[in-house]
Amino acid sequence: MISIAAESTPVLSETNTDLLISTWKEVLSLIQPQINSQSFKTWFEPIKPIRFENSELTVNVPSQFFYEWLEEHYHSLISSALQKILGSTVKLTYNVLPVDEPVSTVVVSPTDLALKQLDPVQVKLESLEATQQLPYEKTNLNRRYTFNNFIKGESNQLARAAAMAVANNPGGTSFNPLVLYGGTGLGKTHLMQAIGNYALEIGKAKRVMYISSEKFTIEFIDAIRGDKTNEFSNFYRNMDILIVDDIQFFSGKEKTQDSFFHTFNSLHQLGKQIILSSDRPPKELQGLDDRLISRFQWGLTADIQPPDLETRTAILRKKCDDESVFIPDQVLDFIAANVTSNVRELEGCYTSLLFKASLEGKEVDIDLAREVLRSIVNDIKSPLTVEEIQRIVAEFYDIPNDLLRAKTRKQEIVIARQVAMYLAKELTNSSLKTIGLNFGGRDHSTVIHAYQTVEEQLKIDPKFRSSMEQLKRKIEIYSR
Ligand code: ADP
Ligand code: MG
Repeated sequence: MISIAAESTPVLSETNTDLLISTWKEVLSLIQPQINSQSFKTWFEPIKPIRFENSELTVNVPSQFFYEWLEEHYHSLISSALQKILGSTVKLTYNVLPVDEPVSTVVVSPTDLALKQLDPVQVKLESLEATQQLPYEKTNLNRRYTFNNFIKGESNQLARAAAMAVANNPGGTSFNPLVLYGGTGLGKTHLMQAIGNYALEIGKAKRVMYISSEKFTIEFIDAIRGDKTNEFSNFYRNMDILIVDDIQFFSGKEKTQDSFFHTFNSLHQLGKQIILSSDRPPKELQGLDDRLISRFQWGLTADIQPPDLETRTAILRKKCDDESVFIPDQVLDFIAANVTSNVRELEGCYTSLLFKASLEGKEVDIDLAREVLRSIVNDIKSPLTVEEIQRIVAEFYDIPNDLLRAKTRKQEIVIARQVAMYLAKELTNSSLKTIGLNFGGRDHSTVIHAYQTVEEQLKIDPKFRSSMEQLKRKIEIYSR
């Protein structure tokens, strides 16, 4: 909730809906230019203003998760826009729509309405509603994929959060379908299956089906051959959660797409959850029917990016913990520094390393890791150290390297030192304590302060931002 003190506010009430809507539009017009269009569409378009009384603006949001996301990510943006339009005493109240209430704000086009009323399948489906649990062996899920062993990172933040919201309340959030997209080996299959596993575990779904779009296509063709297309359709339309992986393979397969289109509509109308993945954003899928692509955009589309260094290291550590394997930190850092674009490769490297060690009776050390990496990475880098960062930063600012570690508080040295601390935190796995020690035995709180100062400066000073980019490029070139 946002509450701030104010002076003059226009008086709006329920009876004055036009004013309410136009006021809300004004608020949005301040917010829109400040965020990207996907975020705006996802997080702001679904908000519905419902009342403005006694300086209190009440808006409807589709779920608790939605509200939490807004509060966490857009609190200051929203409150400053509100204050500009409605004055500083305005108070914002979120009204979370009850879970089971159908989302009243979904825009239904006339063709969709026709479908809803006429599709005879829907009737059949409802009579199948009460069927029992689908045995786990038939779900195609793998128990290995859980939220618990999916490491959270900046690269997968939205995808993971949305997946968890969907798993807790399949079909009940506005994320239907949930579409995850991203390059290969980044965790799409893992996350989608984690939703299925979790929803089954907490009893929010009885029938979950995971299938790749290739397998869906093959089964569909078999069904045509065996004259069993009805059985085929009914089977999939009877799921609580349908997970279809790698939908890019539907491309060019018109009949399969057509069948999938009808399955999609039936499930969606019944409030059943659909989860899809693709190697690119839906609108870039070629050879896919436009009506399918437009449906894919009804819910939430979330991308997964390659993991940053910290996440890569955390993934390796978690694997060691889960399998009670000991690998020295430097070796993990070394692997994480080199395998950068793909989690599957990262895991492959970990497995090969252990395999080689046990096969050849060798110790797991940097040398062995280097041997394993040779077959995966062309240019093996050593992990970047704090000392190297100091050297490059000193050179960049044209100051003697040792002044970064000295006591001097001369302005230009202080700036360079803060920049070097910031980069050490960003680009290495060193702890705050270690970084502090590397800067002439300073305290970890000094490092935090430096980090925050630089972050602030980056936000407000474009010149500083561009010099930081230059510096990062230099470091990158060096550490290649
Ligand atoms: P995709 O479907 O995007 O190609 P996968 O889901 O098959 O990728 O992931 C590849 C491998 O990496 C899997 O073994 C998966 O468990 C693992 N993985 C990916 N992302 C993570 C993560 N954030 N935390 C832990 N393991 C991950
Ligand atoms: Mg996959």
